[in-house]
Amino acid sequence: MQVLPCLLCGKTLEKRIDKNGKPYFVCDPCGIQMFIRRKHGIERLEKLLRASEKNLIPFKQHAHRLFEIQALLTEIDGTKKQIRNLETEIGLFFQDKDKLRACNLLKTQLEHLFVELEELANNPLNLQQLS
Ligand SMILES: [Zn+2]
Repeated sequence: MQVLPCLLCGKTLEKRIDKNGKPYFVCDPCGIQMFIRRKHGIERLEKLLRASEKNLIPFKQHAHRLFEIQALLTEIDGTKKQIRNLETEIGLFFQDKDKLRACNLLKTQLEHLFVELEELANNPLNLQQLS
């Protein structure tokens, strides 16, 4: 059975084939229709499905983990930007103690985010199985 999880609800979606022989997926409750029309996408899909067939159960977790990693990366980027902005504002000569403190807190937070990301990446179910 060739399946993908729905992006939004995680429901298992079976691969369907349209009248042109192209694969697509439908999630009825969410109203999502995902058509894969180009060769590049179809090849990637085949690869993904082969990987998930070998290991069907962890696949849902893969989708979940992918979102977690993406969310963490976005958060890391945002935190870095905030630090950069504060550092520009703090100035070299007349340092604002509150801003300095905020900046240090953000740096600690950034460290935590990296630790979290490492933990996700070191998990045995990591995403390299899909590449
Ligand atoms: Zn859905």
